[in-house]
Amino acid sequence: APRTQRRETRSTCCYCGIGCGVVIESGPGTDGRDAILGVRGDETHPANFGRLCSKGATLHLSAAPEVYAQARAATPEVRTARDRPRQPCGWDAALDLVAGRLEGIVRAHGPDALGIYVSGQLLTEDYYVFNKLAKGLVGTNNIDTNSRLCMSSAVAGYKRTLGADAPPCCYDDLDHAGTVFVAGANPAFAHPVLYRRLEEARRRNPRMRLVVADPRRTDTAEGADLHLPLAPGSDVALFLGMLAVMLAEDLVARDYVAAHTSGFAELEALATQWPVDRAAAECGLPGDDIAAAARWFAQGPTLSLYCQGLNQSSSGTDKNAALIHLHLATAQIGRPGAGPFSLTGQPNAMGGREVGGMANLLSAHRDLASERDRAEVAALWGLPSVPARPGRTAVEMFEAAAAGEIRALWIACTNPAQSLPDQRMVRRALERAEFVVVQDAYIGTATAPYADVLLPASGWGEKDGTVTNSERRISRVRAAVPGYADSREDWRIARDVAVRLEARLRPGRPSLFPYASAEQVWNEHRESTRGRDLDITGLSYAMLEAEGPQQWPLPQGAREGLARLYADGRFATADGRARFVASAPRAPAEPVDRHYPFALTGGRLRDQWHGMSRTGTVPQLFGHAPEPTLDLHPADAARIGVGDGDFVYATSRRASQVMRVRRDPGLRPGSVFAAMHWGEEWVGGRGSHAAALGINALTSPALDPASRQPELKHTAVKLLRA
Ligand code: SF4
Repeated sequence: APRTQRRETRSTCCYCGIGCGVVIESGPGTDGRDAILGVRGDETHPANFGRLCSKGATLHLSAAPEVYAQARAATPEVRTARDRPRQPCGWDAALDLVAGRLEGIVRAHGPDALGIYVSGQLLTEDYYVFNKLAKGLVGTNNIDTNSRLCMSSAVAGYKRTLGADAPPCCYDDLDHAGTVFVAGANPAFAHPVLYRRLEEARRRNPRMRLVVADPRRTDTAEGADLHLPLAPGSDVALFLGMLAVMLAEDLVARDYVAAHTSGFAELEALATQWPVDRAAAECGLPGDDIAAAARWFAQGPTLSLYCQGLNQSSSGTDKNAALIHLHLATAQIGRPGAGPFSLTGQPNAMGGREVGGMANLLSAHRDLASERDRAEVAALWGLPSVPARPGRTAVEMFEAAAAGEIRALWIACTNPAQSLPDQRMVRRALERAEFVVVQDAYIGTATAPYADVLLPASGWGEKDGTVTNSERRISRVRAAVPGYADSREDWRIARDVAVRLEARLRPGRPSLFPYASAEQVWNEHRESTRGRDLDITGLSYAMLEAEGPQQWPLPQGAREGLARLYADGRFATADGRARFVASAPRAPAEPVDRHYPFALTGGRLRDQWHGMSRTGTVPQLFGHAPEPTLDLHPADAARIGVGDGDFVYATSRRASQVMRVRRDPGLRPGSVFAAMHWGEEWVGGRGSHAAALGINALTSPALDPASRQPELKHTAVKLLRA
């Protein structure tokens, strides 16, 4: 029954990894039912102190009843044959069908015939249940997440150098930094509330320097003291060149390096092969600018902010590590205003890693490759063992489905038919899989038509749980209104399938999923962190309620979490020393050549989010960029004979795409840019069927060998006037 009073509920923004606190206003909506009526920033939340960006501030508009009536998945649907439309059905029938089909496929083809593809938009509790279902119940590590497209190179970079997947900094460091070094990130668009904080810190401290390394002159670069428009993919050469300057000018913190690190001699030998002139030539930058950046960096305190420009690369782990090396070499870590700070793209990529919801991870940052870690997780779950064989990561999972090796796909809260690279392969996978379950709050995604079973999930403002933001801060997400129509929380759907499946696969045994609430799931996750780097045994839902969001670690007995890690110079490696691992620069997997002479990169716009399931329902958010464009330098546009508004065929080694041209003098000649948000409903220009796949028709599935993150930031293309 609708409640008649307007109410306020504290929760967290569902978009980016800054994790801003919001206050949701709810009450009777236009249709008389309980509805979200307004949203404002939570003044008490330490991530944003009341600020919201354009996306967060319009969350309520995307939750209007008339919007939801068009956009939301309302009831379970199943189809009995691929050539038949799905029909609505009840939850019990849909869940029984899913459990029965998964059991059949697992019994016939083994546990690894199942692939579960989840999302950094899920809450920690959702992630936990999915991960236990895959690894504990079914016995496969074939669970991965769209966070693989986002943060896995940052994870691998931290682990390689510092020994643990733990961003060592906090937002407060912006107020203490002398130099902010932004690499491969555009926080003015992608993390606007953090960028506002940076702007305020610069106003308060006019001596603060902002250096931005980015091939594009983004809004962030526009405001920088020094912009380094490096050639796409040349980040490692830039960082080695900066280290060479530091070595030449005696700016390396030799005492710190000797006391707290290992492996510097090999890196020093490599850096001496990259003197500033060589780095400048490789990066296409003035040597003086590289030298200036190196001096400011070493002077510090220096805070690096980095994101997909480093991560989405076939050498993403090397790029992350090479930047962290600069912090270690100059002792710019473990103190206020200093450290390498990866900006999380999604709202809960961190939480997903914390529960081990990826193909190569286990609960609480345990490592799948470690026999001891596997035994600990098995003991926590009351099982004799958990599987050792590494699972398929995001792109590999769909490649395996396209090859017929994975036969059932369960996709939750993500839209791989738009967001994964090499869309033709992805769509072959979705067609070839014998059974596809899509669990989503939205009905209109490019993936939904492939669903044999569609399970409607409740969305933001309708579910309880937690998320972890970029600075390791755990915040509550709270339900302000009931789930839309017949939708259910993601953890509850996963539990309900799991309970049915365990009745078939391990009958008569106590349930592995005895959860009646999100809090019970979280409590089990909390216990799994005991003694780990992310120990939160001192935290509880009650503490989050009473004292607000908290950073990890927060072990039993602690009063608060740690703002900064590694202040004592001890790192999370076996010997306590941070590691330098020398890696020479590597070219992108698809270097440009005379056949494909342009380097295509992608990125976010200021007012849109991911595939626009939610932001695409808010007309105001199209004021900034009303339609997709392919941006190129005016000189390149002139060379191929196009101007603003003309169309070009952009063709990669995989597909062709018709796109409208926008000239942008902020791009390097030879580089072209397209926003990541638009899919097949939007792109297509003149109606070419080949164009009806979105920008990821073109992108490359090449992976970083360590992180398995695809190289979404670099695809070689050719352009032809359409
Ligand atoms: Fe939401 Fe990120 Fe904007 Fe904050 S900065 S309001 S978390 S999208």
